[in-house]
Amino acid sequence: MPRGLHFDIITIFPEMLDMYFRESILGRAQAAGLIHIAQHDLRQWSQDKHNTVDDRPFGGGAGMLLKPEPLFEAVDALKKPTSQVIYLSPDGELLSDALVKELSHQEHLILISGHYEGIDQRVRDHCVDREVSIGDYVLTNGTLPAAILVDAVSRQIPGVLGEEKSLTQDAFAANLLSFPQYTRPAEYRGYQVPEVLVSGNHEAIAAWRKEQQVQKTQDRRPDLLK
Ligand code: SAM
Repeated sequence: MPRGLHFDIITIFPEMLDMYFRESILGRAQAAGLIHIAQHDLRQWSQDKHNTVDDRPFGGGAGMLLKPEPLFEAVDALKKPTSQVIYLSPDGELLSDALVKELSHQEHLILISGHYEGIDQRVRDHCVDREVSIGDYVLTNGTLPAAILVDAVSRQIPGVLGEEKSLTQDAFAANLLSFPQYTRPAEYRGYQVPEVLVSGNHEAIAAWRKEQQVQKTQDRRPDLLK
């Protein structure tokens, strides 16, 4: 496998994210070989001529489930000794900055994006290494959760962001939220940027930023300071 982190996304909407992955930072990171993103249509592993990938749940209940056979086959086809298989699910482990950083050290992530009422439990029990949620709410399918994971993990990979410094001043770095940022003009509609930022005094700027970070974190996310 060429170097860089490989993402293989198993989905029934293999084109939905094309544009997102092609543009900007993720597009450049792929061109530079730092990450590789492939989307795979689950239907290619369906077992009948209608390309069926879903069926009704045993025991009744609302909606449909993604069937086990295509998902088992898909994982078998894509899996390598270094792969980690992740199912995006609202009842999974919450995606956090710590988890994003941990995943950025992997070589190969296989992401299963669910649909309808989710996927057959046997896939979760026997194919999946980890289940990840992007938040305590339910989306119609796992496409956006998969994109969010790919995006957040990719920007942790050295070289993906133009300036590595961006990572250290992001929210959650060192368990603090980010400081306020301003750009030109220094005055707009009578609103001034804080004096210290145009002072040229780098020590004072650093101290002001730290103070702002601590204050904002105390106000908005005191849990991070514990
Ligand atoms: N019945 C499932 C439940 O309550 O856990 C919800 C299924 S949801 C409608 C369909 C698919 O969307 C899931 O299989 C999952 O892949 C994805 N999904 C929805 N919300 C998500 C979230 N918060 N985090 C990660 N994936 C999510």
